[in-house]
Amino acid sequence: AKNLGRSNVQVFHPAMLQATHERFTILEELRQAIPAGQLRVHYQPLVSLQTSTIIGAEALVRWNHPDRGLLYPDYFIGIAEESGLVVDIGEWMIKAVAAQLGDWTEVLEDRDFAVRINLSAAESRAPGLADLIDRTLAEHAVPAERFIVEITETSLMTDPEASSANLLGLRKLGVGVEIDDFGTGYSSISYLRKLPAQAVKMDSSLIQDIVSDPRQLKFVAAVLQLIEAAGLLSVAEGIETADQARLLTRMGCDYGQGYFFGRPAEASVMAGLIGKGLPS
Ligand code: C2E
Ligand code: CA
Ligand code: CA
Ligand code: CA
Repeated sequence: AKNLGRSNVQVFHPAMLQATHERFTILEELRQAIPAGQLRVHYQPLVSLQTSTIIGAEALVRWNHPDRGLLYPDYFIGIAEESGLVVDIGEWMIKAVAAQLGDWTEVLEDRDFAVRINLSAAESRAPGLADLIDRTLAEHAVPAERFIVEITETSLMTDPEASSANLLGLRKLGVGVEIDDFGTGYSSISYLRKLPAQAVKMDSSLIQDIVSDPRQLKFVAAVLQLIEAAGLLSVAEGIETADQARLLTRMGCDYGQGYFFGRPAEASVMAGLIGKGLPS
């Protein structure tokens, strides 16, 4: 429903001038945010639908703004991408997640648990990405298997060669690669076979109506078959209800993520969930 009001017609509107000014202010403040220690990581659990256990988390960036409070990525990631600042944010995220995984070493024991981070386009083609991740994980004595990057087709498109060199480098280390936002305009089936990925995350827009719309349910069943045929694990995001979780489990979907299982929250909340039972 988010896109309903969006028009294709480009008309210059006085509000756009203000928007430009506002964007400039946000960018200036965002530059200070990293050195000022205002970025935060929230973790959202991923669960195995088939075994009802927590198998990892997605790390999502937040900006604890001194005046505006906790800001979500929709507010600043676009601006960060345009300015290249997203690479610094990404580097900060890699370090923060590696440090957190290091702190969790004892909590995690030998459990199957990996944290996913979102890779922006600029990061995915940045030379030295695999080295950076390798060094950072080593610094905190974190096994590469505990770290996964989520990528979208668009994020790889600007420089496919540099990106695929990075992904292969990460795979060589043992870092996981997963395809994000599958089923949106930013993904195509050829990528399922071309990328060195282990899992595919179906976008929440695919999952949204599976309970009320039998055609959507059938469609998701077919997508799950496609993912399986490609030899990949399936993840459903945006699961908000028990009915959605039940249908996806019955269709053989491997992993699930969404408010039904847990909202993104501070690391301490995530730590409390590890090893605990799930809502069912
Ligand atoms: P995404 O990768 O698709 O992440 C999932 C988004 O869905 C998150 O929004 C999450 O809070 C939200 N979500 C989770 N469960 C549910 C649910 O059951 N229902 C609904 N309606 N939403 C759910 P968030 O945290 O606002 O992040 C938005 C986007 O910002 C992410 O979409 C990702 O593309 C980007 N992003 C977040 N963190 C980072 C980061 O560290 N680096 C980069 N480059 N991008 C990031
Ligand atoms: Ca993601
Ligand atoms: Ca996603
Ligand atoms: Ca999404």
